[in-house]
Amino acid sequence: MPAAVSPGVLTKYEPVIGLEVHVQLLTASKCFCGCANRFGSEPNTNICPVCLGLPGALPVLNAKAVEFATLAALALNCEVRERSIFARKNYFYPDLPKGYQISQYDKPLAEHGWIEVPTADGSTKRIGITRLHMEEDAGKSLHDGFPDSATRTYLDLNRCGTPLIEIVSEPDIRTPDEAFEYLTRLKEILLYTAVSDCNMEEGSLRCDANVSVRPRGRQEFGTKAEVKNVNSFKFIRAALEYEIERQVDLIESGGRVVQETRLYNADEGRTCSMRSKEQAHDYRYFPEPDLPPLIVSEQLLSETREKLPELPAARRKRMVADYELAENDAHTLTASREFADRFEAAAKTARNPRRVANILLNEVGGRLKASGIDLDQSPVTMAGIVQAADLLDEGKISSRQLKQIFDVCFEKGEDFGPVYEREKPQQITDTAAIEKLIDEVIAANPWQVEQYRAGKKTIAGFFVGQVMRASKGQANPALLNDLVVKKLEG
Ligand SMILES: [Zn+2]
Repeated sequence: MPAAVSPGVLTKYEPVIGLEVHVQLLTASKCFCGCANRFGSEPNTNICPVCLGLPGALPVLNAKAVEFATLAALALNCEVRERSIFARKNYFYPDLPKGYQISQYDKPLAEHGWIEVPTADGSTKRIGITRLHMEEDAGKSLHDGFPDSATRTYLDLNRCGTPLIEIVSEPDIRTPDEAFEYLTRLKEILLYTAVSDCNMEEGSLRCDANVSVRPRGRQEFGTKAEVKNVNSFKFIRAALEYEIERQVDLIESGGRVVQETRLYNADEGRTCSMRSKEQAHDYRYFPEPDLPPLIVSEQLLSETREKLPELPAARRKRMVADYELAENDAHTLTASREFADRFEAAAKTARNPRRVANILLNEVGGRLKASGIDLDQSPVTMAGIVQAADLLDEGKISSRQLKQIFDVCFEKGEDFGPVYEREKPQQITDTAAIEKLIDEVIAANPWQVEQYRAGKKTIAGFFVGQVMRASKGQANPALLNDLVVKKLEG
């Protein structure tokens, strides 16, 4: 199994990758009926004549699903079509009792979007989104887990009619890493808009990848294979790496790639042929006669635009400026909208918001990493961090004392407040006592004193550090700063 596409392959051949992502929308009810849209219910309990496709049952479109799909489309920079058309996509499968899926075909809800992904050289690349359309999910065939699974397949139709959006990228992606980044960004944006929980284990987000290779410099695409049923972004990257090597080997040894659907086997790290691919027209799409055209009015569009949250990329950019963060740190703080909201709400209440970011990233982040726990399981709460930041800012504790308190917090699993109250660090605020320590340090470091007096003012920090150490971190920092400068100038 190749760990990554070998460089030799990439100098000669260029991979072309397009991704199709299906996302379940977090509506309370299904797309065309009032059944609960819920994962994990007893099989075949959330069903009705509409989602079972019984004769005479008529679909009614869920307004919330339209709102969510429109919100996602706007977040992905798509143009939303005022009038889109539902279509029947006909195919037979046991978990599709209607014999067709309601989808959209030649007039999808939205088109011409894009996502920006970071590239290896530190710049960004725009990956186009061809279309975003609405459709319904099918049921599920259960092939194992029953005593007679060897001879029977069971059907759970709860998922029939679950609202989906399908997001189809342009074939703009050139490496498995870009595919990984695209999916990561896409998921992040969708989570920020809260239209889906994007839970891949539960199938709320599913991805199929189209991949082909062509000799570098050639315009037309090679024959593509579709890789299906991959249930993590890491596996998609691995599947693409495998598939690119496989196709190149095939071409180099005189064979040719056939258009087909392939499944990825994560245990073996390889893809294998599932079936040769039907053409899109085999589905025989035609307009859904039971649903009128979907009209997204100017009013709905502007109302939805107002619901658009600040999206991850914009938020990171702003937070880098607001809190003077490194790009990496901004990523950590914006990993989820919920966490970024909590951080910013807390930081706003502090005397110095930047200090809150700093303590969170360095003191809390470092200790979490060392003990292998997640940010949301930190014993020190956001309020505790703000309290620590303020005490530090007011000079009531030194940074060394802060570190000591945090050590105790993590050792005992307690928040900052109670530990601080209990072990309230002693502070030396006695001017004479601090002056005495400064005199000693000055006497011991004549060379540094000379440098200071020669104009190297930053060396005052050296004296502050030395005295702080001598006081076992207990000297009042503000007072210490003042006294050091006074002594050195004197
Ligand atoms: Zn139903």
